[in-house]
Amino acid sequence: MEESKKLELKEKILERSIEVGSRILDLEELTKPISPDKGLGRLTRLEALQDKNVNQAALERLKDEQIRLQNALANILLPSFGVCQGCNNDINFERLEAMPASTLCTECAQ
Ligand SMILES: [Zn+2]
Repeated sequence: MEESKKLELKEKILERSIEVGSRILDLEELTKPISPDKGLGRLTRLEALQDKNVNQAALERLKDEQIRLQNALANILLPSFGVCQGCNNDINFERLEAMPASTLCTECAQ
């Protein structure tokens, strides 16, 4: 992959990392333990717990993505960056732009 394209991706990775980082902070706030006496307004406690589970799942996914973004950032200057770990073909640039942390090409990811 050309250096200029790598730089372009690096920008995208950094942008995405910031976005993911702030989403994680929000979700960590939303997934704090719910105290039994907390006034929940219209929400019942059960609904609050269901929301918490949904947020918890989203939080896990984002934390996973954050790790993959950090790995991508650490590896971006290596010649192997952008090469599919499944088939050794180059990963489509549009795919990397959309999902800079991907280590598999479109076909191998299926
Ligand atoms: Zn592949």
